[in-house]
Amino acid sequence: MGGVFAFYGEKECYRFLRTGLFHLQHRGQEYCGIATSNKKRIFWRKKPNEGLVKSNFSLKDERKEFKGKMGIGHVSLQEPQPLLVESSKLGNFAFAFSGRLINQKELEKEYEIFSSERPATRILANIVRKSDSFAQGISQITEKVKGGWSIVILAPKKGIYVAKDPYGFRPLVLGRIIDGVAVASESVALKEIGMDIERDVKQGEIILLEKNGFQVIEQLDSPREAFCSFEFSYTADISSELKGIPIKKARENMGRALARNDEIEADIVAGVPMSGIGAALGYAQESGIPYNLVFAYNRYSERSFIQSEQRNREIIAKEKLRVIDATVKGNRIVLLDDSIVRGTQIRRLIFRLLKRGAKEVHVRIASPKIVAPCPYTVSTRTGELIGTCHSEEEIGKMIGAKTLKYNTIDDFVKAIGLPENKLCLACFTGEYPTEEYKAH
Ligand code: SF4
Ligand code: MG
Repeated sequence: MGGVFAFYGEKECYRFLRTGLFHLQHRGQEYCGIATSNKKRIFWRKKPNEGLVKSNFSLKDERKEFKGKMGIGHVSLQEPQPLLVESSKLGNFAFAFSGRLINQKELEKEYEIFSSERPATRILANIVRKSDSFAQGISQITEKVKGGWSIVILAPKKGIYVAKDPYGFRPLVLGRIIDGVAVASESVALKEIGMDIERDVKQGEIILLEKNGFQVIEQLDSPREAFCSFEFSYTADISSELKGIPIKKARENMGRALARNDEIEADIVAGVPMSGIGAALGYAQESGIPYNLVFAYNRYSERSFIQSEQRNREIIAKEKLRVIDATVKGNRIVLLDDSIVRGTQIRRLIFRLLKRGAKEVHVRIASPKIVAPCPYTVSTRTGELIGTCHSEEEIGKMIGAKTLKYNTIDDFVKAIGLPENKLCLACFTGEYPTEEYKAH
């Protein structure tokens, strides 16, 4: 997870960065950060900003702090970013990325990164710092670093370099407005600040955002594209569009496919907010069973500071969704969700629905069963995955569902609408698109 945003325009960029990042908040809530430049200096905060964009960056006060017409921003679950690199031969620059390095431990040794503070960001920034140009630095990263990443580099004298790994695991979308250009991890961030979508950044592509728009600097070799398919069922916001595919449409298709393979009798179809909603709508349309709400989303339960502790996460998860008795009591419910990782969340939700009087709960999952960990993005350890050692039927029993069904890989791919050989499906198939992961 994690999200990046960059803007180069004719107006002060702070307002755009703040609002754009706010619309990427679902991709990371532990840290956020902004760096801007007026071509002479870089404005940033050394101290990490913990928590949400809105609690760290206001519309009023920080406008004076972050000057200039170009800037980058970041939301993350792990390392606080951007990182400022000073007195390199390329001058000062600010660096941010979203993604994950598979060979991080080896690289820490090679680049003598002994600090536990932002190690992955330091590795990447270090590779750039030692290069003769920014493009060469990014190309070096491509050679040395295994994993999935989208990069944004604020280089005051040049503009903003943006790049995607050679497999293109992570999303990155280009946008345009009359007096500016931008990139964001998701289209929603661009659209909500009034920009038009230009296109997605390609795998292995290096682009420079500058005064006159953007310029493709280099197209590095790419063995194949492997765009994260999980974006379509879970990670991205329902209002976004990635690779030209509206997330809403993909999720509805996933729900429709599940309904086509079903013959159950039920009274209502509902989705687990927020990522199960699209699939529930599709399921209802296809099956003719009415869509309804069984959970009300409590908008005040948002996290406002670090909540990595399991106990805190549980309390917050419970506060987030309230049961709506009027639709639950006495009804047979088909409940749609995006995926099952450990199974703990869905088990708790089913338990609560049954306790509040649901007659039976049938669970339908938009994604296929997760059977392998992801080395490229979100870090799920094999031991945490309920799908690695249990059958569909067993998992259904464990979570308290009357029946449980996942989408098939075939239906899932068709629902997205992109060719299978351009998608990463590794966590659902166990087949990794990159060679090196097999060794880990
Ligand atoms: Fe996405 Fe799964 Fe591939 Fe990771 S393994 S990049 S979550 S599809
Ligand atoms: Mg969920």
